[in-house]
Amino acid sequence: MRSSVFIGRLTADLLTRGGAIVDSGPDQTLDVMAEPVLRGVLGLGEFERLSFEPGVVGATFIDYDAPLVDRLATVLNGLGRVARVQPPTVRRKPIDAAILIDRSLAIQNGVHRYCSHAAVDATYVGATFEYTVLADERMGGVVTTWVNPATRSTASFESRIDPTSLADDPGATKASDRTDGLTAAWPLAVASARARLSPGIADFLERLRRRRERDVRRLREYYEEIDLEIRRKLSRPRLDEDLRRRERDRLDATHRAFHTRGAEVADRYRVRLRLSPIGVWVCRLPAYYINVKLMRRNAAAEAVFSWNPIDGRIEPRACDGCLAPTDSAWLCDDAVHYVCADCLAACRTCGRRFCRACTRACPRPHAREEAPSHARLGR
Ligand SMILES: [Zn+2]
Ligand SMILES: [Zn+2]
Ligand SMILES: [Zn+2]
Repeated sequence: MRSSVFIGRLTADLLTRGGAIVDSGPDQTLDVMAEPVLRGVLGLGEFERLSFEPGVVGATFIDYDAPLVDRLATVLNGLGRVARVQPPTVRRKPIDAAILIDRSLAIQNGVHRYCSHAAVDATYVGATFEYTVLADERMGGVVTTWVNPATRSTASFESRIDPTSLADDPGATKASDRTDGLTAAWPLAVASARARLSPGIADFLERLRRRRERDVRRLREYYEEIDLEIRRKLSRPRLDEDLRRRERDRLDATHRAFHTRGAEVADRYRVRLRLSPIGVWVCRLPAYYINVKLMRRNAAAEAVFSWNPIDGRIEPRACDGCLAPTDSAWLCDDAVHYVCADCLAACRTCGRRFCRACTRACPRPHAREEAPSHARLGR
């Protein structure tokens, strides 16, 4: 679709939602009449004819650089950031749930048993984030992730659903049912987005680490040379007492400068990751929910897994500890939590393995004295 068609539709849609009367005029123009308040906000006259192609006589040309488009942000801000979209047409084919579960689940220290499955209309929540990773360089982009809050799972729709091209769901008004679980979806979507970004960020961090090491090395070499030179002078016999004191001061100053500059290097390479939400999509799809029993030694827990026809696989379930989607899980002894390897890792101080879904810090008393260990992006 041409961008002029897109912007025409967007403008008409937003003006209508803002309360204006919008009609199509000659030559694919748009005739707009708005009440005074909206006219004031958007800087429009009583009657406006808008064209999305240049050179139409008697019409104001609107492209993405037009002031009107900027001002429409005011209308957009008033709409909220959740859009209900109609799913692409997909068929829920029959599945052999027991076999799918056996093939898809990887539990490292326990067993699972398929119990039952049921066809459902599942609610998926898609969240689009703009992200920036800031250090001495910056990287950024946009990431969209789809989660199923009812089963705490992530679906891989990225390449197959473009939410911006889906039609609005006219059934939006009957959307009061709580099963949508938007609130539950939020932390899952954030964790899922972070997990999606982490391979790219890992590369970024690796390059950063190399630059930082190079800078620290150069800095050290530079100051070591000065240090050496001063010490050489100081080691001279029959050095004037005054000169000796001056050189000592210089030595101290050199050490101080090295530390200051070192701190500057550390600061320059400090990493900040920022995720800011752009929009949220809600979409209902025909899916299956599969009930599974998870067993660890003598304990057991029930879990629901989800299959959808777009992704066509059992969706990776969120780790009960960090909420990141997990393909290969561990079960904890006490509560049979479904956790990732990191969330059942050994304590760094005492080496005891513990479940981060049961307790955030090591249950042994020393844990309170430790600094938090989540500063993985730091150094
Ligand atoms: Zn985890
Ligand atoms: Zn410990
Ligand atoms: Zn646990």
